[in-house]
Amino acid sequence: MDTDPAPKLPPARERIGPIRVTLKQLYPEVVSALDHKNALELLVATILSAQCTDARVNTVTPALFARFKTASDFATCDIKELQKLIKPTGFYKNKAKHIRACCVAIVERFGGEVPGNLDDLVTLPGVGRKTANVILGDAFATPGITVDTHVGRLSRRLGLTRHRDPVKVERVLMELVPQEEWTKFSHRLILHGRKVCYSRKPRCEKCALATICPKVGVKGLAAKRKRKKKKEDSPQRTQRAERKKESK
Ligand code: SF4
Repeated sequence: MDTDPAPKLPPARERIGPIRVTLKQLYPEVVSALDHKNALELLVATILSAQCTDARVNTVTPALFARFKTASDFATCDIKELQKLIKPTGFYKNKAKHIRACCVAIVERFGGEVPGNLDDLVTLPGVGRKTANVILGDAFATPGITVDTHVGRLSRRLGLTRHRDPVKVERVLMELVPQEEWTKFSHRLILHGRKVCYSRKPRCEKCALATICPKVGVKGLAAKRKRKKKKEDSPQRTQRAERKKESK
């Protein structure tokens, strides 16, 4: 397993216990932030949540699910009507295409019911491993590690892995975290990423994991971009660029 233990801190295997306990204390009750009443609604909402906030998805789904109730309804819908209903979530043409194609496959291959296992779920159009694990964990109570942008970033910052490939991150977390906790652990990392360990400017000074995080004090994307811009704007760089231009 490729982990990234911090100097002076115990390896990931020893820190994962305190990390799990702390996250559980911070976020004891975790449920999907996407409003849904069944697996189909969660599947559609998850497709809509790509490049969109869960809160915005929740503003369009009540009308959407009142209009289309079954996989067959979505599979036979008028694509323009579907597009109109989901437009506020962005990329609505592609999302409408995926939702309809996904529901056609559910009707044709799974009798109109969302399948409850990973192998079948990932065969549906528009459904990758991440979406499949969300569905399994939240609609079928089957534990799954969901590696989205927050889970990936926090896993690396917390020194649990160095991998960038979500599938490899998922495997590392599956080894470190007890299976019955996979779904909740993913939700807790997502919440911590949304509330404290921001990508742009992590709030390490407010973070309850600071004493067991190897990256405490890390500069986020905002600082990196600032440094890059400063470098680009530096007078030496400008002079060098001008000299290069003149010598041509
Ligand atoms: S200490 Fe900083 S980098 Fe580490 S988890 Fe907390 S906010 Fe993120």
